[in-house]
Amino acid sequence: MSAVIPIRAEAAGCEDQPVLRERGQREVFCGLTGIIWLHRKIQDAFFLVVGSRTCAHLIQSAAGVMIFAEPRFATAIIDERDLAGIADANAELDKVVTRLLERRPEIKLLFLVGSCPSEVIKLDLSRAASRLSQQFMPSVRVLNYSGSGIETTFTQGEDACLASLVPVMPAEPQTAAPALLVVGALADVVEDQFRRLFDELGIGPVAFLPPRRAADLPAVGPKTRFLLAQPFLADTARALEARGAVRLDAPFPLGDEGTTGWLQAAADAWSISADHFAATTAPRRERARRALARQREQLAGRSIFFFPDSQLELPLARFLAREMQMRLIEVGTPYLHRQHLASELALLPADTFLSEGQDVERQLDRCRAARPDIVVCGLGLANPLEAEGMTTKWAIELVFTPIQGYEQAGDLAELFARPLVRRTRLVA
Ligand code: SF4
Repeated sequence: MSAVIPIRAEAAGCEDQPVLRERGQREVFCGLTGIIWLHRKIQDAFFLVVGSRTCAHLIQSAAGVMIFAEPRFATAIIDERDLAGIADANAELDKVVTRLLERRPEIKLLFLVGSCPSEVIKLDLSRAASRLSQQFMPSVRVLNYSGSGIETTFTQGEDACLASLVPVMPAEPQTAAPALLVVGALADVVEDQFRRLFDELGIGPVAFLPPRRAADLPAVGPKTRFLLAQPFLADTARALEARGAVRLDAPFPLGDEGTTGWLQAAADAWSISADHFAATTAPRRERARRALARQREQLAGRSIFFFPDSQLELPLARFLAREMQMRLIEVGTPYLHRQHLASELALLPADTFLSEGQDVERQLDRCRAARPDIVVCGLGLANPLEAEGMTTKWAIELVFTPIQGYEQAGDLAELFARPLVRRTRLVA
């Protein structure tokens, strides 16, 4: 084993491609949705949405089927008296939080999550959080962020949540050695795999944000090098950089190629030799490639259309085009963060049609005209498109499912192959 297996370099990249920018009606979920996966990740945190009955319904219908224990999220309902200014919303909130924390002593971190209604009545949740934190520290820390649906996408809830953690991360000791911080909620199984890989590569110490327990909030400072595990963490990255941490530029760890590029960025920062990197990753890459080859039979040559939803669209499109040989009709993304997506843009086929933002009717027209083999979209569009005979994949499923890393590469491809196989069977 003598060299790193390079990322294929034949694609010219689509950095210079014109991007269609649209501002119109959008079909997206709000940031409250992030609570569904974040509450499972931070195991002693509680998410208290300060919102309306609509917010409560959204969370419960999205999470209801997954509750096996007493849930670690709830909604403090803003009612007519709060809206009319008759009741003191702050006093009501203090009562709700006190009752909750008395009843649930296992909670160590409480997030007050803002919503459209709390923003409409201008309830200052940051002041409420600092007031309640003073009252309940050191046993419970209270933070706040907004999950409001006005002009956001559903993954921004995670960004806002992680950004709220950054100011309370401890400072790294002055004598600290450089440390790697992996930023973005990953399934525990994926996190464990990456931890082992970094260990074998000789990269470390490694910490993850968010941590599994509130007390394990990692330190941050100028010696911290961070890798984004998710492409929708602009505010969190900015907050980490403000504390001196340095972002490592990399593609996102989807598929064999993305995972290798992502690990390579850390390996370069730690000056790991090419031979050691290749020897450590080669068996895993080989397994990933075998798993991908099976799925490629179903996916190669098929066309795909992405509606803007999760912000995972560009890394997914890069993976499906380059490793699965799918044809990209349109790759829509809610926001195009050119800096964070620079490595992805460099790998995407040169003629990729990118769109940013949404005007849903116009985009639906383009989609219907193209009749792609599969459409990646939000729940609100999936059923109507299925009724029109199109095959769809829910974007939100890609956030709930472990898809990062070598071991999950085959599963990721299968998420796209399965609906196509099912549709073929239905038609046959
Ligand atoms: S969009 Fe606003 S009102 Fe609707 S569920 Fe989300 S936060 Fe609540």
